[in-house]
Order: sequence, then structure tokens, then C-alpha cells
Amino acid sequence: MISISNLSKQYTHNGQTIGALNDVTLTVGAGEIFGVVGPSGAGKSTLIRCVNLLEQPTYGSVKVAGQEMTSLTSLELRQARKKIGMIFQHFNLLTSRTVAGNIAFPLEVAGMAKVERNDRVKDLLKLVGLADKAEAYPAQLSGGQKQRVGIARALATQPQVLLSDEATSALDPQNTTAILTLLKDLNRQLGLTILLITHEMEVIKQVCDHVAVLQAGRIIEQGRVYDLIAKPGSHISQALFPVVDVPPLSSGARCVSITFFGQAADQPVLAGLVRNFDITINILAGSIQTITGQRVGRLQVEMTGAQVEQALAYLTELGLYVEVQ
Ligand code: ADP
Repeated sequence: MISISNLSKQYTHNGQTIGALNDVTLTVGAGEIFGVVGPSGAGKSTLIRCVNLLEQPTYGSVKVAGQEMTSLTSLELRQARKKIGMIFQHFNLLTSRTVAGNIAFPLEVAGMAKVERNDRVKDLLKLVGLADKAEAYPAQLSGGQKQRVGIARALATQPQVLLSDEATSALDPQNTTAILTLLKDLNRQLGLTILLITHEMEVIKQVCDHVAVLQAGRIIEQGRVYDLIAKPGSHISQALFPVVDVPPLSSGARCVSITFFGQAADQPVLAGLVRNFDITINILAGSIQTITGQRVGRLQVEMTGAQVEQALAYLTELGLYVEVQ
């Protein structure tokens, strides 16, 4: 749905050239929730604004639904942007318009007839859980409610893609979870593709299927969130399941990191290991978390004994991810 190739962006400011993005390549499949995470100044806003050409890339290609965005005329670009909704950290609502008026705005611009527009606004209000707030003004809403209005407005023209620019960064943790849950529901119900940028790992953990880590304008890691978690050395794995510094191992022992997904996270795997193999296991660290709706566990253990290799092979056969450190 979104295909970005070799994208670079340079700004010129006071005669100085600032390289905001450097050779960024990523692909977002239809129906995915793809997160770009990185610290402030990494280039996240620039990247997302290049997708709908709010920023003109210096170099590279940006395709949305197969259409090359960088070579469109301004009229074609206006048409193409109808397929791309966007939500913002500070909501960007029109304060002098009611909730319904804000949501109706892009439909008015698109020239939709009033009766049809009113029906559509009603449906959108229901979709985001604000049916009773149609006549309220933004100043009367909580941050979470304002973002719901932003989402309804972004979806008014029935886009295939939603761009989310730090949409939960101004919200408290409860509202963050509520908005992320709404985005996930919309992704499922409407098949909406979502590209979001965030500096919060929590956002990646709650909703993203895929992730790219951006640092100083470059992607330093990308992939399926679960695949990256299974690699204890990856940035994502380190952020969500930090590898704990372990005390010096007993002589001949192996330090093993075991990652479990889904049902396997609830199985008595270690008991099975000790029963079936001539080994001793000492647990060094462990945790279980819910990541993108699935339980994921990570154990760091010390293994000794004659059958460590067989035990490791057995764990892999069970479908667990095993890394010897
Ligand atoms: P992030 O969203 O990750 O915080 P940005 O994309 O906003 O990062 O910024 C990336 C880099 O580009 C920063 O060094 C920032 O100062 C610079 N930058 C962003 N927008 C402009 C601009 N309009 N003019 C000059 N420099 C800019």
C-alpha cells in the first residue's frame, strides 16, 4: 500500500543543509499497522509528511496504492490525498466549528451534497464513539475525545491509508490505550492501512504488526515486531525485553534466552526439559508481556549438564525462539 524507496530529504536553513532523511526504504502492506519509532529529531515527522507530499522529497520514490506521489500535478495530488487521511498530536481541530462541523469539513471541500454529508457525519460519529457529541465544540472535549474527532475527520473521505503523526503523544496512558484500541478496531473493520510515527515504544507494543527504527535519518532496523522480539540483540527486543546482565556463569554452563509466543507462553516448558533431559536449569531473569494482543514471554536461564544441546534442539522443535548468549 505504501512503498518508499531510497528516500532522502534535506532542508536548507540559514544557508546550512540539514540531512533529515537518508536513503530510507520501507514497504507497508495493505491492512498493516506499521510503526516508525525513534527519538526526537530522528526524521519521523519528515518521513510521514513525505508520504502525502506535505514535504517534497529531495530524492527517492514514494508510492501509495501503486501511484508515484512525487511526480503528480497539484490537481492529481489533491485527488491522491483523498485516499490518505492524517491525524496529529495536537488534533488540529477548527475551534469555531462543532464536532459535526469539523468532521463535515473535508466533505464540504470535496463538494458532497448536504443530505449525504449529514448521513456520513452521523456514521463517522458512531464509528468513533461520539454519537452524543455532534453539537459540542472542541473546547468542551477531553484530549481523547478530540483525537476521536480527528480520526473521524481523517476517515471522512474513506481513505485507504491513515497517517498518524504522534497521535497519542499528548494523551495520558488511559486515553492512549483507548485511541490505540480504536485504531486497531478501524484497521480490522475497514481494512485500513495505518502508518504511525511515535517516540513511545508503548505504542509499538500495543498495536504495531511491523516496525522500523529510525535514528539520525536512517532506518537501523525493521521487520515484524514478533520477529524482532525473537532476536534478543535487536533494538526492539532490547527495548521491550531488556536482556538482564547476568552474574558470572557456573563453569561449563550456557546462558540461554528463550522467547515464547502465544500459547507456548503458558506451557510448563522448563518442567518438561528437566524431566526429559539430563540437565540442570537455573532461572536468571524472566517476564511475560502482552504485545500487539499476544502474550510473549522471555526467560534467561543458565543450563548445565550432559544434554544441553539436545535440550536446546527440543525447545526449537517446540517452536520457541532460542538464543545462546
Ligand atoms: P522527528 O519527527 O523525529 O522529531 P523531524 O522530522 O521533525 O524529526 O526532524 C528531523 C531533522 O530535520 C531535525 O534535525 C530537524 O531540526 C530538521 N528539520 C525538520 N523540519 C525542518 C525544516 N522545516 N527546516 C529545517 N530543518 C528541519
